[in-house]
Amino acid sequence: MDTRTFPCHDVISVRRLLIRSLLYLEAGLLVALVALVAIYPANESAAGPFMNNHWHATYEISVCGQRLPHLRFWEGGIHTHDDGIVHSHPIRPSEEGKGASLASWFEYGGGRLSSHSMLIPGARLPLENGAPCPDGSPGELQITVNDERLRRWSNYIPQHEDHIVIVFGPKD
Ligand SMILES: [Zn+2]
Ligand SMILES: [Zn+2]
Repeated sequence: MDTRTFPCHDVISVRRLLIRSLLYLEAGLLVALVALVAIYPANESAAGPFMNNHWHATYEISVCGQRLPHLRFWEGGIHTHDDGIVHSHPIRPSEEGKGASLASWFEYGGGRLSSHSMLIPGARLPLENGAPCPDGSPGELQITVNDERLRRWSNYIPQHEDHIVIVFGPKD
């Protein structure tokens, strides 16, 4: 007879334990959520560069195996000087943080950079993924930062002393 009550008791305590641990889990999730909410804006505002910063990242662009000459100077805080360097020294709040992304840098120079195409500042036509190189092989946009391949670059903000390699060409 006792053998019946014991498993029953066990089941109840297991259930209690489950409920209790679920409550702890919920409390834990809540704490994590509150922490995330508290941290997120801080991270956002810590993104940089800021108006008093002057960050330099080197870059190179190659199209179908041909290294392009340095891009010409353009106005604004996020610019270049014909020197192969992405200069990030925001002169207005909109150029801080995400406003200093690589995609923004392209835009300030009159170009455009998306996940699958690139209009090089000063060029007239965009290079779209799949467009053939002179040898017939399809080109693809590939970006490497400090020897690490970026899978996505829509939010990439060049950091001081980064080295950016932008390639449109046959897939590696
Ligand atoms: Zn500079
Ligand atoms: Zn400058």
